[in-house]
Amino acid sequence: PPVDAALRRVYEAGPDPGAAVSLRFVLLGPPGSGKGTLASQLQESLGLEHLSTGEIFRHEVKRKTALGRQVERYVSNGQLVPDDLVVAVMTKRLTPARRRKGFMLDGFPRTVAQAQGLDTFLRQHGTSLTGVIALTCPAARLIVRLSGRQVCGTCDAIYHVRRMPPTRKGVCDRCGAALTVRKDAQIDTIRKRLRVDRTESAPLMAYYRRSKLLHRVDGRGTSEQALAKTMALLRREGWVRPGPQGRPIAEARVSAHQDGSVNGASRSFGRRGG
Ligand code: AMP
Repeated sequence: PPVDAALRRVYEAGPDPGAAVSLRFVLLGPPGSGKGTLASQLQESLGLEHLSTGEIFRHEVKRKTALGRQVERYVSNGQLVPDDLVVAVMTKRLTPARRRKGFMLDGFPRTVAQAQGLDTFLRQHGTSLTGVIALTCPAARLIVRLSGRQVCGTCDAIYHVRRMPPTRKGVCDRCGAALTVRKDAQIDTIRKRLRVDRTESAPLMAYYRRSKLLHRVDGRGTSEQALAKTMALLRREGWVRPGPQGRPIAEARVSAHQDGSVNGASRSFGRRGG
């Protein structure tokens, strides 16, 4: 299967022992594009940390931290948190260790002002983005995907009645709580969300296209295909460096999952949406 081939190549090509791959990505993609799933898979296979703004905010709100209280009214109304605040929160998480080891940003930046804030921060710390990966998918397909979504009210895990059903119908695999159909899984709501996303993301895509950082990945197929295409891109761009062949860790990790899951990543399907 393509996923095994793609992963085996990455592991075989993998970084020299001791020399970490430092890839600093922004992931873009409309809701339903499979962005969250791709992030989980890349986190698993390349060890890149996945920083999801929505998840960070929801976590802070739940824990009622100072930040949580500041962002709560925006998050609960589905309004964008002010740019300065988002940039401050997210750049604070881009610690020296993360800048060195690499990261994937998901849900940030969301505006050109945030993108500029991120660029400035990275430049001030002597680094920059490696690239921006935009997962693309036609609206009709996004609607089909989004309309079957179920969510766990307790741990935020996301399922899909057809594409990624839980093992036991209506029960979360991760924490055992009951699943509910998301209220945003209505067709009209989905159409509106996709429209808003297009309006929002167009200037951001243009910004990254101008900076020559933008790379599109076709997200129409399965999550394994999207991963394979992303891996191909990383290799083409030389972001995954050739190294010692056939490292044992590669073989062990790949052959352990003949079911097509990527080290269990497929079970964490879109731990958040998108
Ligand atoms: P999401 O899970 O990406 O839909 O984000 C949930 C909520 O967090 C959004 O409705 C916004 O209120 C807030 N949020 C997430 N990311 C950003 C961002 N980059 N800029 C502003 N607000 C954001």
